[in-house]
Amino acid sequence: MLFLSFFIFGSFLGSFSNVCIHRLPKNESIVFNRSYCPGCKKVINWYDNIPIISFILLKAKCRNCDFIIRLEYFIVEISTAIIFSFIYYIYSFSITSLLLMVLSVFFIIIFFIDLKHYIIPNELTFPLMTIGFIKSFYPNLNQNLFPNYINSLIGGVFGYLIIWLIIYLYKKIRNKEGMGLGDAKLLSAIGFWFGWFSIPIVIFFSSTIALLSVIPSLINKTRNLSEQIPFGPFLIIGCVIFILFGNVIKLFLFNY
Ligand SMILES: [Zn+2]
Repeated sequence: MLFLSFFIFGSFLGSFSNVCIHRLPKNESIVFNRSYCPGCKKVINWYDNIPIISFILLKAKCRNCDFIIRLEYFIVEISTAIIFSFIYYIYSFSITSLLLMVLSVFFIIIFFIDLKHYIIPNELTFPLMTIGFIKSFYPNLNQNLFPNYINSLIGGVFGYLIIWLIIYLYKKIRNKEGMGLGDAKLLSAIGFWFGWFSIPIVIFFSSTIALLSVIPSLINKTRNLSEQIPFGPFLIIGCVIFILFGNVIKLFLFNY
């Protein structure tokens, strides 16, 4: 029963994430405007705005004007619901679950905004850094997953500096920008959340996966090597790998 509650709760947070994904880059208010159809600008009725279900019932179309609702809305809602259920399944009703749910909502919003607009808004990274640091002072924190406040602080600084350095060197050598400071702030937030050890692991997995994902388009010549790719989504994938397998990796590397 609780499992289903978390699925439904997740779908509503997914729906809220959709609002943020579409309004934050345009600096529109998240809270005060009702959802409207981008086609006919008509305000959407509450019964047509139920996460997951409305998309299926309306067959991905606006009731008023046949505007096609993008599949992305549905994907965001259903994946948030699945992630929330999964977190509840692993960590049940706990502070750890709550923290990971907050993190997932931030990650989903950043993932899609960066993918579409090549930006990571400070309105997202700054709160994420703050929560990541402040949570370290909670006395009964899950020690397997989260660092103490010193480790958290080192992680935050380390994460920012390493991408700042990459940007600096890249500018010196090739005289242009490869990554943005948004990426530096995102990796800093990850460091605040998971400590210094997460930084090299996240960089390793995110750059490997990013490289593997551009190889096909390099071979087909639909893209060239100097073209920009959004790196935020890859940092997030790298961080998820760390959350899931960080302890196994630690064990493998240090045998402790
Ligand atoms: Zn419409």
